[in-house]
Amino acid sequence: MTGLLSGGPGYQPPNLRGTAFDVNVSADAQSAAERSGVDLAGLVVASANRALALLPHRGPMVITVTFGGVRQTIPEIGIAGYTDPRRGNVDITIDPEHARFGQLLRRWIPATVAHELDHSSRLRTAPARPHAGPGIGQRGPR
Ligand SMILES: [Zn+2]
Repeated sequence: MTGLLSGGPGYQPPNLRGTAFDVNVSADAQSAAERSGVDLAGLVVASANRALALLPHRGPMVITVTFGGVRQTIPEIGIAGYTDPRRGNVDITIDPEHARFGQLLRRWIPATVAHELDHSSRLRTAPARPHAGPGIGQRGPR
């Protein structure tokens, strides 16, 4: 249990790809990430498995990663995420022109995936209260 909560180096969450979620990374996004030394699809899958181990998700959803320019990403980190409020599917855009692209992916893809899956899980477990209760990384009520 400690391993699950801390997510320590030895901890391997169950692989839920194909059951709780699927991942579609566009070919150009995957190639750009590979040139920076990052297996983007692999990173998204690992991030989703870690996040979903902590979330009361319901039913399958899809995480899609595509290119987005500066207007579709958060300028400082070159990444943005969006959760479809009806189906709970997640869209992530990345800006391949951003400086230190690989470093930013390694740092921000796990956080972005966890943040959006938290929205997605809440939408599908309590649609009327998508922001109720503590989220990942937040404290519960005292
Ligand atoms: Zn959000």
